[in-house]
Amino acid sequence: MNIQPKKIHFYSAKDINSLPQLANISPETRLAMQAVAKVLPFRANNYIVEELIDWGNIPDDPVFRLTFAHPEMLSPKDLNCMIQILKENAPEKVLQQTANQIRLRLNPHPGGQKQHNVPYFEGKSLQGVQHKYQQTVLIFPTAGQHCHAYCTFCFRWPQFVGLEDLKFATRESGYFQDYLQQHREVTDILLTGGDPMTMKARQLALYIEPLLKPEFDHIQSIRIGTKSVAYWPYRYVTDHDADQLLGLFERVVQQGKHLAIMGHYTHWRELDTAIAQKAIQRIRATGAQIRTQAPVVSHINDDPSTWAKMWQMQVSLGCIPYYMFVERQTGAKEYFEMPLVKVCEIYRQAIQKVSGLGRTARGPVMSALPGKVQVHGISEIQGEKVFVVSFLQARNPDWCNRPFFASFDTEATWIGDLKPAFGESKFFYESQLEEFLTKKEVVRQLTPIS
Ligand SMILES: *Cc1c(COP(=O)(O)O)cnc(C)c1O
Ligand code: SF4
Repeated sequence: MNIQPKKIHFYSAKDINSLPQLANISPETRLAMQAVAKVLPFRANNYIVEELIDWGNIPDDPVFRLTFAHPEMLSPKDLNCMIQILKENAPEKVLQQTANQIRLRLNPHPGGQKQHNVPYFEGKSLQGVQHKYQQTVLIFPTAGQHCHAYCTFCFRWPQFVGLEDLKFATRESGYFQDYLQQHREVTDILLTGGDPMTMKARQLALYIEPLLKPEFDHIQSIRIGTKSVAYWPYRYVTDHDADQLLGLFERVVQQGKHLAIMGHYTHWRELDTAIAQKAIQRIRATGAQIRTQAPVVSHINDDPSTWAKMWQMQVSLGCIPYYMFVERQTGAKEYFEMPLVKVCEIYRQAIQKVSGLGRTARGPVMSALPGKVQVHGISEIQGEKVFVVSFLQARNPDWCNRPFFASFDTEATWIGDLKPAFGESKFFYESQLEEFLTKKEVVRQLTPIS
């Protein structure tokens, strides 16, 4: 296998007009794409453009839909408004103001991530840290708050367009180590972003190496949430510090901890290049495990055979399918979202096509305010059609694995659209959740229900 090193090159909104691969797209459509890219984040790179997108198949090519701005991502009204001011060559300030007005209508802060999951330590809130579920603490390293390209459906889009200040991200010198030393119930650290793998190996080591000390014996697993294995596999093969990075992975494993690369893969095409497979091989050779996850979205992977093929390829390559997520209600959601009924059917049909080794993918899962909600499927109980749902993770651990029922609804796309079945006024957890939301300090103060 002859792999040439690549130096990363990014494409942004201004390149939409000059990219030769887009020459066959009409000037009107290109202008509309630029209009969208002024509102929602757009970034592609040379690997995606040169090796992942099948340019003979645009605009429907899934990787093109995954990374390039599409006119349909904005409402016709908002789209026309942006096109108009672009045509008028409006000053940057006007463009920014208009873009911000549109952004604020796109539900930029779903799920209360910021307000409700940030822990307190010695009276101060720990910015850049989230602690929602007992065992797992999320860390948002300051330097890892962008990605090697942006997904068009990204739920973290507000941080990439500057709508959210990056207080969200922690510094390596931060308090999080002290917090972790005190919280002996924590077994897992999840470094997330953006994409922590946009950091240099040296920077990443500042977060990981300290956790290998004896004070952190209670930390069993270090996870890194990343899209880099799909978007920039050169990170693990030919980038100048690739070997240094893999050396860091090896040290974690040698210290007796589990290192899990939580690879975001949206489509099997991201696994199909020689470099993508080489990256996986090299990561796995360090003793790290790769688990995979992605949301199911319209226009990109809304087909059971796409998922089945992706899971099969992952299993062949030694990766472990982990989650199929439901897309959150934010950003260009109207373009990407699907009714839960359809999402359930895609999961059900996809899972049937793979052996037990691929059925480790849990789904469809909504990561929502009360917890991670899994929709098991549709059933009928004494004549009433219902969704059967339960928590995989919850703000109160005691809410987990208690199946509950929501009225069947062909249009619902999210837990918030669902109503309790059998004429109940609330889901079993809702009173406790409301109580929690009025409190400032955190999560584990919820008492188990009996
Ligand atoms: C998904 C998630 C986790 C990890 O949950 P697991 O079930 O251990 O994979 C941790 N924290 C938050 C906030 C999450 O959304
Ligand atoms: S990799 Fe994740 S954080 Fe980055 S753009 Fe895609 S969905 Fe968003």
